[in-house]
Amino acid sequence: MQSDIFKYRDVWLVSLPREGVIEDSVYGLIAEARRQIDELAAEGTVTAVVMGPATDTDLAELGAYGVNRVLHLTDERMAHYHGERFAGELRLMVKEYNPACIFMAQTAETDDLGPRLAALSVTDFIRRAMDLKMGADGNASAIRPVANGYLFEEVCFEWQKGAPVISWLPSVLLDPQPDSEAKARIIKVSPSLAPENLKTKITDVTAAAPEDLDLEEADIIVAGGRGVGKGEAFDIIHDLARAIGGTVGGTRPIIDWGTLPYQRQIGQTGKYVSPRLIINCGISGANEYTAGMEKAQQVIAIDLNPRARIFRFADLGVQGDVSELLPLLIERIEELKTA
Ligand SMILES: Cc1cc2nc3c(=O)[nH]c(=O)nc-3n(C[C@H](O)[C@H](O)[C@H](O)COP(=O)(O)OP(=O)(O)OC[C@H]3O[C@@H](n4cnc5c(N)ncnc54)[C@H](O)[C@@H]3O)c2cc1C
Repeated sequence: MQSDIFKYRDVWLVSLPREGVIEDSVYGLIAEARRQIDELAAEGTVTAVVMGPATDTDLAELGAYGVNRVLHLTDERMAHYHGERFAGELRLMVKEYNPACIFMAQTAETDDLGPRLAALSVTDFIRRAMDLKMGADGNASAIRPVANGYLFEEVCFEWQKGAPVISWLPSVLLDPQPDSEAKARIIKVSPSLAPENLKTKITDVTAAAPEDLDLEEADIIVAGGRGVGKGEAFDIIHDLARAIGGTVGGTRPIIDWGTLPYQRQIGQTGKYVSPRLIINCGISGANEYTAGMEKAQQVIAIDLNPRARIFRFADLGVQGDVSELLPLLIERIEELKTA
């Protein structure tokens, strides 16, 4: 049974852990949920709805970031994302607990989950929000990029009607630190949809090669620019990515040349990425490019020009010719791997 304090302005955020690990973006969503409550100057609570396996220790520690309670929905049926099941289960929880609104970080999975949940709940779905203002009068407005980031639109809606679903652009989410010793209260929820009540079933799950992962999901990215060259010259970037288990990205000239498809473009008019490591090869570091990779944790840059702007962002900068350095680097990585 829900306690009274959760009845009013309970902001939800959804976590879909991979292999038992809570996604980094969840911590940014918590900070955003807290900010909304503070700006409303209201009594409010933050609930994390964790769908899939995660340890009780990790769940309780969400309290230190500002989560009041965790609704943990898990069993073997929740081990892999299944749109119809996850949206159906979430809808049942929304009906029971009645949250004010529901936050998710935008990923391939939430691009599926968000619209499904909004359709089942007959409510609004705002995709790729960069900012959100929830007024005490029940009116809200969100800013989101459109036209490949050339334009930004403001979407107005009523947040007190039917728990709207907001998916946040991961690159705008903060990377907060824990600020208390608090532990979140964990409530276990059993999935209730029987397989025979679902129209779809997942028959197989195939892991993508890291090189082909969506850039927004990638942990390691190897990015190439005009300095690498077009066509076959660019193969060296794929070779390095394969050697280190990375995903390939590029700058706009690489996409304009047709060497990589558009979904591999990083930057203001491409993807905003937040990997643990990005290796930039032959990239000058124009601000339209760096805007898309500012959230990378570790940045390596290799460029001929010692004054290239990309070095301002680099934790490790190497001045040199990529066509000479990259084959040596790959050879050394392979040697270390076999050793
Ligand atoms: C509205 C707008 C939106 C844009 N959006 C994007 C975007 O989303 N993403 C994006 O990438 N760009 C975008 N651009 C383009 C952006 O301004 C730059 O032109 C682009 O990022 C430059 O790409 P680059 O670094 O690959 O090429 P360059 O700027 O030409 O840099 C090439 C680099 O390679 C180095 N180099 C050359 N040969 C070698 C070698 N053999 N070894 C090592 N280094 C070498 C050079 O020293 C240089 O630093 C946008 C532009 C506009 C106007």
